[in-house]
Amino acid sequence: MIDTLTLSAEDAIALVERREVSAAELHTSYVDAIAERDPELHCFLRVVEEPNGTGIPIALKDVISTRGVETTAGSRILSGYVPVFDSTVAARCRTAGLSLLGKTNTDEFAMGSSTENSAFGPTRNPWDPTRVPGGSGGGSAAAVSAGLAPWALGSDTGGSIKQPSALCGNVGLRPTYGTVSRYGIVAFASSLDQVGPVARTIRDCALLYSIIAGRDPRDATTVELPEPVQLPQQDRLDGLRIGIPKQLAQLAAVEPGVRAVFEQTIDLARELGAEVGECDLPLSFDYGMPCYYLVAPAEASSNLARYDGVRYGPRVDGATYREMVERTRNAGFGAEPKRRIMLGTYALSAGYYDAFYGQAQKVRTLLIREHRDALSEFDLIATPTSPTVAFPLGDKAADPLAMYACDLLTIPSCLAGLPGLSIPCGLSEGLPVGLQLIGRQFGENTLFRAGHALEGAIGFEVLPARLRRAGSKKAS
Ligand code: GLN
Repeated sequence: MIDTLTLSAEDAIALVERREVSAAELHTSYVDAIAERDPELHCFLRVVEEPNGTGIPIALKDVISTRGVETTAGSRILSGYVPVFDSTVAARCRTAGLSLLGKTNTDEFAMGSSTENSAFGPTRNPWDPTRVPGGSGGGSAAAVSAGLAPWALGSDTGGSIKQPSALCGNVGLRPTYGTVSRYGIVAFASSLDQVGPVARTIRDCALLYSIIAGRDPRDATTVELPEPVQLPQQDRLDGLRIGIPKQLAQLAAVEPGVRAVFEQTIDLARELGAEVGECDLPLSFDYGMPCYYLVAPAEASSNLARYDGVRYGPRVDGATYREMVERTRNAGFGAEPKRRIMLGTYALSAGYYDAFYGQAQKVRTLLIREHRDALSEFDLIATPTSPTVAFPLGDKAADPLAMYACDLLTIPSCLAGLPGLSIPCGLSEGLPVGLQLIGRQFGENTLFRAGHALEGAIGFEVLPARLRRAGSKKAS
């Protein structure tokens, strides 16, 4: 019997290498776990029952195109769309022998922070199914937490890997922009979208990053990694300088319980030898969100123009071409993509372009500069990942601005193109709290090193309390 509840990817790989289990048996064990627990959680939009690799399984967010396997991005407008090609990340997973376990739920076109915007129904948080798993990649994060996949890929535009990992209590990496190919990823905002790993441990996260990262001739924004991925070993942080933004103290949105766990974790970092100081990000928390909600919808409005009832998915007929396109888009898109298309086309329209889109691009440059300055003094910047723990389903669904505020802390570094790691660092109200570490461009190895040392010292139990069985081992 394979206990998928507690298995890390590294352990699973070792089991297969030692021939204690076959790749096929492992795949089947996860399919069984999905059959048992996913009816409650709804992490998966599609499950691939047949083992299809020589290695361990992986779950992919449904914005990642997979040859022969329906890919919907959580939208009705793509239902029935079966790609005839693999995205580069899916192809790299296949080449590494990974067995595709299924496609995970997401907010429609990755727009959202709770997975409630999925056209196919929400995912629930394995720690408390009355609560959201975060979003947009709630399906991948919840699947890893609940032992329905040893690891998974998500995509992050403004926080969609980091924030759900925080709310579900696992490790998520948003890589440096340009290190992971976007070829075959359903595009949301092309200057921000990055694919990255969701895992139970930092080492698993680093391993999966090493599989997907690197230049891809099919995506001209990608580059080769300047140094190979190093699997972290050390348990000390001596010599590492961590900056805490001084603006954090003034942010009323951060729940006291989240703040307390964050501060304990920073104390722990000091005990491990890190030098902790104050850094200055004067614009990030006031202007990051408004800047993002101009740039991202502007790019989305352009990227979503391709869904016209001709190229992909279902069509609603009309008397003229124009009527057909209007009806198809009206029926196919949910409220959030429509809202973003309207915001984006407005921001890009003649007469408003300079005042909104142009201005946002200037702000983005300032955010890049202030992060660069802070990271010239410090190796890493630390904040909580999410200002709150997982909230009840429905709590923010009717209030788009409250939903947008979930990404207050994750968005600024995304605009700056920098890598960010979320690691579970404790509980508040019985729910996971994430620590966000922001690194320099291509600073993933430093993130892994710091994350690994902290992970050991924190000793967070990844498996949600309600899924722990008597006698099951610690998962972290
Ligand atoms: N929650 C943010 C949004 O709705 C970020 C989403 C993402 O990173 N894909 O745009």
